[in-house]
Amino acid sequence: MPPDPNDCDSPLHDQRLIPLETARERMLAACPTPTTVERLPLDRCLGRVLATALVATLDLPPFANSAMDGYAVRSEDCAGDAAVALRLIGRSAAGAPFAGRLEPGTCLRILTGAALPDGADAVVIQEAASLRPDGRVSLPGGIRAGANVRWPGEDLRRGDPAVEPGRRLMPAQIAAAAALGRESLEVWRRPRVAFFSTGDELSPLGSRLEPGQIFDSNRPMVRALLERIGVEPIDLGVVEDSRAAIRAALSLAAGSGDAVLTTGGVSVGDADYVREEVAGLGELNLWRIAMKPGKPLAFGRIETARFFGLPGNPVSALVTFYQLVAPALRRMGGAEAVAPLQLSARLTEPIAKKPGRVEFQRGRLRPTPDGELEVAAAGGQGSHVMSSLSAADCFIVLPAESGDHPAGTRVTVQPFSGLV
Ligand code: AMP
Ligand code: MG
Repeated sequence: MPPDPNDCDSPLHDQRLIPLETARERMLAACPTPTTVERLPLDRCLGRVLATALVATLDLPPFANSAMDGYAVRSEDCAGDAAVALRLIGRSAAGAPFAGRLEPGTCLRILTGAALPDGADAVVIQEAASLRPDGRVSLPGGIRAGANVRWPGEDLRRGDPAVEPGRRLMPAQIAAAAALGRESLEVWRRPRVAFFSTGDELSPLGSRLEPGQIFDSNRPMVRALLERIGVEPIDLGVVEDSRAAIRAALSLAAGSGDAVLTTGGVSVGDADYVREEVAGLGELNLWRIAMKPGKPLAFGRIETARFFGLPGNPVSALVTFYQLVAPALRRMGGAEAVAPLQLSARLTEPIAKKPGRVEFQRGRLRPTPDGELEVAAAGGQGSHVMSSLSAADCFIVLPAESGDHPAGTRVTVQPFSGLV
């Protein structure tokens, strides 16, 4: 019998699959970068992508100040080996600078963040000092110029780039903008992604399941995935398995979003109409990737909208989203390319695998007492198995050409927390 191309295990079948890296590169190349900038108040910038570099408009710190609670001194007064006693002339606290100048032989009480007075060039920590009844302060010798001082501009100089464009704004970048006094930032408009589920078996949450029905778990998952990567979701509901309904929904979606994302209907079943309807309305550029799960992923274009057709199986949908769709949507949102965090871990149990497709198994990652990482499959690896997906905390990435992995093998893992 000739090899059957639809049999997953046939060599003929696998030859027609697109390698994952090739698919990722082609999808990225086919996705446009954004052109519309929005100015947003800082308190609405979390998770958005910076469009215009944040440039320092002042020095940080803006003035010389103390890194510690203690006494401001002229280092030349305490540079020798012997301890000294300096006359205390006043105090500089954060927000309440000392107006005068520090003359030779004097010192000033100073608190963390307080301006260093003119004349001073070092701070002695209070634990090393003692205030005497005669109003002098005993201080150790050996104090160097610059000790415990934060100089103006040592963090950022006026004109320095503080955050580069393309960076997704997280609490640290919000703080950087605020430290520079910025009340608003220019960010890229978020890509709008119109999405729907396909399948006559799907029942909305809150309904009673009729025989043969399942709940539509993909739509809430897709919304969560889209929100997680910072795009604007447009939920178009569930669409029945008919050509006309799918065509209408694809048209509507293409008119309302920068991208269209569907789940289901891209495989080889009788009711899988999505690919043909995409090809009829626009073009289908990619289909069938050498990955497991996720083989039926489809990519194309309808009018100006990019099309992502995720497989219906929930695990396949999640894996293809992270591995292929997220990088493409991040590019459409103006974000710099960032690879997922990958770590090396030791398998505690063997994993059986056939060469041909890169596999993303659901795993559980554990640190060992000696600082190693160990990983094991999280449970059943069928692409419909939700329990192992929600129990997992990482993908175990097994290269396409590899076969069985005995226990003890080092494998690459992608922690879910590092997937962006
Ligand atoms: P399909 O790709 O449409 O052939 O679907 C493959 C498998 O995924 C079938 O078992 C479907 O019932 C299931 N499936 C499809 N869409 C969804 C969904 N929205 N939620 C949960 N399961 C789904
Ligand atoms: Mg279906």
